[in-house]
Amino acid sequence: MVNKEEKLIFERSKKGRTGVEPPCSDVGDAIPEEIIPKGFLRSDIVGFPEVSELDVVRHFTTLSEANFGVDSGFYPLGSCTMKYNPRINEDLARLSGFAALHPYVPEEFAQGALELIYDLEAYLKEITGMAAVTLQPAAGAQGELAGMLIASAYFRDKGEHRSKVIIPDTAHGTNPATANLAGFKVVNLKSGKKGILEARDVAKVVDTDTAAIMITNPNTLGLFEKNIREIAEVVHSKGALLFCDGANMNALMGIMKLGDMGVDMVQLNLHKTFSTPHGGGGPGAGPLGVKENLIPYLPAPRIKKNNEVYSFEEKNTKSIGRLKAFYGNFSIMLRAYAYIQAMGGFGLRKVSESAILSANYIKERLKETYHLPFNVRCMHECVLTDKFQKKYGATTLDIAKRLIDYGFHPPTIYFPLVVDGAMMIEPTETESLEVIDSFISAMEKIAREASEAAELLKNAPSTTKTSRVDETLAARVPKLRWRPKG
Ligand SMILES: *Cc1c(COP(=O)(O)O)cnc(C)c1O
Repeated sequence: MVNKEEKLIFERSKKGRTGVEPPCSDVGDAIPEEIIPKGFLRSDIVGFPEVSELDVVRHFTTLSEANFGVDSGFYPLGSCTMKYNPRINEDLARLSGFAALHPYVPEEFAQGALELIYDLEAYLKEITGMAAVTLQPAAGAQGELAGMLIASAYFRDKGEHRSKVIIPDTAHGTNPATANLAGFKVVNLKSGKKGILEARDVAKVVDTDTAAIMITNPNTLGLFEKNIREIAEVVHSKGALLFCDGANMNALMGIMKLGDMGVDMVQLNLHKTFSTPHGGGGPGAGPLGVKENLIPYLPAPRIKKNNEVYSFEEKNTKSIGRLKAFYGNFSIMLRAYAYIQAMGGFGLRKVSESAILSANYIKERLKETYHLPFNVRCMHECVLTDKFQKKYGATTLDIAKRLIDYGFHPPTIYFPLVVDGAMMIEPTETESLEVIDSFISAMEKIAREASEAAELLKNAPSTTKTSRVDETLAARVPKLRWRPKG
């Protein structure tokens, strides 16, 4: 349990207290005026905390205990794949031959690293069914951006001007932002009654001014876009491209290849699906896979293999250019490579099957207790709502906050936007049946509390350092800096 009164380290300060005492200078204290002029020297550091080593250790240990992560408990945050990351991949990422490799080292001395990049691209081609993959983008959203810039370059090259990108309401929020950033006009499309897209609805909006459609598959309702093949035909009949947001690949690995379904481009999130601590803002990797006809536009440089020698090829006049310094976040690639190697093809398929099974299990066990907007088989995540609890005044936010009291990280809430009061639960394949069962029973208890003692939910969480913060204020006017008094 977190110490509620943990002070700022500045408030622990006692005049004259120190952790370590460096030896006295044996070359004299005064710094010659010609080296650092007096005006630039401080005589004191105002407000600097004066604490002992033990103060520092206790302070930061206490703070670290206030943190919640995959290592501390169940983290069913939908559309995020917060799974356990095998520690062995951390060890591998720290191997000094890789970790200390300078990015400017000549290619002939970095053949091992280049081979790894080359092979990882090949694995991801196999997993997605694409003709080529670039590992350069540093995040899912940057992989999307690479895709949209490629769409732009592709049509410019063909002498066509296309201004629109179609985005269904079940797409991830980064998709419209990306299309907009790449200079396209976003056209919204409503998904069908079953929570997935119908090819005939796509046909109504796609035209020769459409550059692409961006489909998240599985979509943000956790449903598989079954009509993807027909949608691809409709889109291609107008010369447009089908971009698939593949950040939810944890549901598809080894089961189906998006490339076989007519998808022209797909981005993956290595930091969700392929082992890497995900969260905290990075680093990440959002590789982009493309079909043959789009290869010329891929970001430069591209990695090449000739006579068993690996190198980067910079020159490519049609390329959209460089997206990231050097060749992206190498340590993330290393973890993904190790993960794929360790799992193997059948292992990856098992990951997806188990992730899907876990989500469907939760859905089936909770669908009487919580409203289930789409009563169909889901993929790796399921969406429930607060419809039944609302009549007692308990909302999705209250339910999410109460879960914290039971030791669980809340699921993604109020997303997807198409579902009122959505709770999007993604258990992942790495959780045991016991953990999932205890989450289900917490959800059941909370539903009972909602009808019998709604104030418990309204005051939740009650076991944490802070309870409910004004989230708007906390985001807009964050308190980031401590100032000494007086
Ligand atoms: C997480 C996610 C993204 C964005 O990925 P980042 O690495 O955070 O930029 C895009 N699409 C989907 C479906 C996602 O789940």
